Amino acid sequence: MSAQDSQTDLGNSLWQSCLEHLAQDLPEQQFNTWIKPLGAIVSPDLSKVTIYVANRFKLDWVRAQYAVKISTLLEKLYGQAVLVELTITPRAPTTTTASPVSTFTGFVAEESIEPLEERRSATPKNRINPSLTFENLVEGSANRMARAAAMHIASMPGHLYNPLFIYGGVGLGKTHLMHAVGNRLLSEKPGSNVLYIHAEQFVSDVVKAYQRKTFDEFKERYHSLDLLLIDDVQFLANKDRTQEEFFNAFEALLAKKSHIVMTSDTYPKGLPDIHERLVSRFDSGLTVAIEPPELEMRVAILINKAHSEGSIMPEDVAFFVAKNVRSNVRELEGALRKILAYSKFNQKEISIQLARDSLRDLLAIQNRQISVENIQKTVADFYKIKVADMYSQRRPNNIARPRQIAMYLAKEMTQKSLPEIGELFGGRDHTTVLHAVRKIGAERQQQAELNQQLHVLEQTLKG
Ligand code: ADP
Ligand code: MG
Repeated sequence: MSAQDSQTDLGNSLWQSCLEHLAQDLPEQQFNTWIKPLGAIVSPDLSKVTIYVANRFKLDWVRAQYAVKISTLLEKLYGQAVLVELTITPRAPTTTTASPVSTFTGFVAEESIEPLEERRSATPKNRINPSLTFENLVEGSANRMARAAAMHIASMPGHLYNPLFIYGGVGLGKTHLMHAVGNRLLSEKPGSNVLYIHAEQFVSDVVKAYQRKTFDEFKERYHSLDLLLIDDVQFLANKDRTQEEFFNAFEALLAKKSHIVMTSDTYPKGLPDIHERLVSRFDSGLTVAIEPPELEMRVAILINKAHSEGSIMPEDVAFFVAKNVRSNVRELEGALRKILAYSKFNQKEISIQLARDSLRDLLAIQNRQISVENIQKTVADFYKIKVADMYSQRRPNNIARPRQIAMYLAKEMTQKSLPEIGELFGGRDHTTVLHAVRKIGAERQQQAELNQQLHVLEQTLKG
């Protein structure tokens, strides 16, 4: 069975199980009349189900009566929101001149119907997501400092670490941490005036205030907060007017001892196109990094998340997955979702073999892309040295260091052993590799710049 087939099967079984639930929930006649005739195609990543209905009348009815139910069910079965799109079944070509098979072009324009957006409970005004809390944020050395600082702020805003600037790569839990601060503060001091906002949304608020001449309201709103959580501030780059407004809000909030927490994909001085005075404000409280989670933390996250989904992930399976899915937590969650869905639909116990089957695509991509040779070439390009210097015995620092970095990445990103890596680096001893791995690993914790370069290299290698 190819990977593609297995995805399609997964989609089919998701839809089948949705139908089975509907058959149980609905009176038989309703089910037979409205649901049974529906056709459905599930997108390969299971994020969308397109449902085909015979005509417009039926479509309106299904939409009004069943769409929400279907989308809620799918979400429950799959474990995350699935977009449900209703559309009218394309008519079969009536003449033989039409191109065979690919009849999908015939129905798009006027007959397709606005997709039904996944249902979300109305977002509260503070935009805090109540499901992202400290309780379900696994702690590990990768996020220990950031988490501790965040907890401190949640219980005593306006004191230490103001502003708190959290940076790190995608999917490492920055947004989660922000919401956790908001939730904790709201539960301890329910009347607090808190706002979570993504920097892009902040930009658009500024633009709106401009257009509608409502700057007074805008200021009133922002300047009266007790806690401002602003996510992904790298998006403020090049937005001069927004940066100015942010600077004003910043000053006003700090003056009245309100707290500000920010996140970004890089440390303040690494932010391009943000005014110097803002950058120095960003850096004036506490700046902490969130690192990619180490193996044990990845294992703990998998086990915890499976548990909260009502499933049990055996430790050996968690280790297998955690060893193979390394880059970030979001990817880890995606892998878990696939495994749980695969196990549920096929009614099989979660085992290493099952994990292997359900993650086939992902594992194939990893195996294909990351080889030691690839790492050597990428690192050499990055530091502008010759690839040959990766194997040479030359020792000047501008060569030795990139070589150590490449060894470190080879250990982190491939399954090769230390002696194998040594061999690929011009027949070096495994202790030389070990030394490099430890050295770069330790320095990465201390040096923001090195850490950043490693992130870039890792992202490049992962493609
Ligand atoms: P970022 O904002 O850094 O890109 P997110 O906060 O969106 O990352 O995290 C991505 C996903 O991983 C979210 O679903 C989040 O709940 C989850 N996550 C991240 N870190 C942890 C952790 N330490 N424990 C549990 N879940 C985590
Ligand atoms: Mg985020």
